[in-house]
Amino acid sequence: MKLSRHLRSLINSCSGKGISTSSLQFRLTLELVTLSIIGLGGVAVWAGWQMEQNLVAAHKQTLEYIAMRFPEQLEVYSQVGSLEKGLEQTINRVSTSNLVVWVKNSDGQLLAQSPNSNSSLSEIRAVESLAEVPEQPQVVRFGDRDIVLCGTPLVFNGKVLGKLYLSQDITADRQKLNAGLWRLLLISLLTISILTVAISQRIRKAMHPLKQMNQIASAVSADDLKAAKLQLHQAPDEILGLAKAFNEMLFRLSGAWEQQRQFVGNVSHELRTPLTVVVGYLQSLLRRSSNLSAYQQQALETATAETERTIRMLQDLLDLARADSGHLHFRCAPIMLNTLVAEVAAMSQKVSNRQITVLATDEDVVTCADQDRLQQVLINLVDNAIKYSAPTQPVDLVLEKTVQSAIIHVRDRGIGIPLSHQKRIFERFYRVDESRNRSQEGTGLGLAIAKSLIEGMDGRITLRSKPGEGSIFTITLPLWQP
Ligand code: ADP
Repeated sequence: MKLSRHLRSLINSCSGKGISTSSLQFRLTLELVTLSIIGLGGVAVWAGWQMEQNLVAAHKQTLEYIAMRFPEQLEVYSQVGSLEKGLEQTINRVSTSNLVVWVKNSDGQLLAQSPNSNSSLSEIRAVESLAEVPEQPQVVRFGDRDIVLCGTPLVFNGKVLGKLYLSQDITADRQKLNAGLWRLLLISLLTISILTVAISQRIRKAMHPLKQMNQIASAVSADDLKAAKLQLHQAPDEILGLAKAFNEMLFRLSGAWEQQRQFVGNVSHELRTPLTVVVGYLQSLLRRSSNLSAYQQQALETATAETERTIRMLQDLLDLARADSGHLHFRCAPIMLNTLVAEVAAMSQKVSNRQITVLATDEDVVTCADQDRLQQVLINLVDNAIKYSAPTQPVDLVLEKTVQSAIIHVRDRGIGIPLSHQKRIFERFYRVDESRNRSQEGTGLGLAIAKSLIEGMDGRITLRSKPGEGSIFTITLPLWQP
């Protein structure tokens, strides 16, 4: 029962529940099982063949021995009586239930035969039907019977008396041997099944550290590079070596990533100040633009807008760099979310001319957060909802409250985000598909900042989305406990 359960689980595991047919585990199991089938099968076939040969050889030897000793025995028995009597007695002496013996003279006349006359006669007739009787014992098949047969010249007192025929029925022995072979086959099959289970279990165990490595490696993201480490217990040396090399690589990557973050932070900081000065000059030029041509005025406006956009991006990068290094400070205080959500909706509706619906619970929902940061995140999400949905579609801001949390959903009925992108959508500079975003300006930093800010306020941000149907970004924050 246990075995069949194991086999079933093996087949299940190979047939799609986890193991692909191109996996190392599957291939190794298949190869080892095939090798054991070939090995055990080969041994069983060879053993069977050898046993059969031994059986036939033993019977042949017996007949050779009887034929060799027959004249000596005949001499002993014929000393007491006549030659005929001697022949009869010798034949009686050597005959058994399976061995029929008879002697014919040179004219082919039967001189003497084994006592069981009926079966002896039918045996003799069967042998007579043969074209030739071999001198050395040979296996001959009569119907469903196997006979070892020989007919050797009988020399007595230097004269050829005729021929001595010996016919040994080995059918029963062969049947016994066959039954033994079937048992051997059964035992081999059982052994192969046990081996299959044992081999697959062993390989699965051996592969476990690799799977563990795989799981840990795929869970590592840029944010936790520093803390990421493969820790394997009871793995073989080769895999431990691989894990060590992997950890060293993670360490180097973490160093490089850290350097890159610092670089981005420093560059953002260094660029923001001169650009702020530039935008200041541009704005003042624009204010006194009465003597500028329309083309110059438009060029100045574009330069101002682009510089402002770049400053915003630099500010985002600085925020992210500060969040990474733990220097992003939050001025947390109790906030009435009902009011904040209504304000964000009103503000966004005014700027975008899009209908923003607020669906808020009647209860007061108060959380402890940094109002400016939370407002920044909400504006960003509403801005995205507007950007990635048709102008006719409204955007909903839904406020809910559970026992411990305040929940804000920002819902649109826009283009949605394919499942394959949803996992990476909160990564920096990640944009779903440049072609669909081309019409929309953006940097791919908004959601990364939103995540950093919300998590910095002990909250969570998640996404549910379906392409063509829309997206829901959900912010969950802890309720304020007075
Ligand atoms: P961006 O500045 O490009 O909008 P975000 O970080 O805010 O950067 O968003 C990252 C990407 O996520 C966007 O480029 C867009 O492809 C996708 N995205 C964000 N919000 C939505 C939304 N509401 N509907 C569809 N796609 C969205």
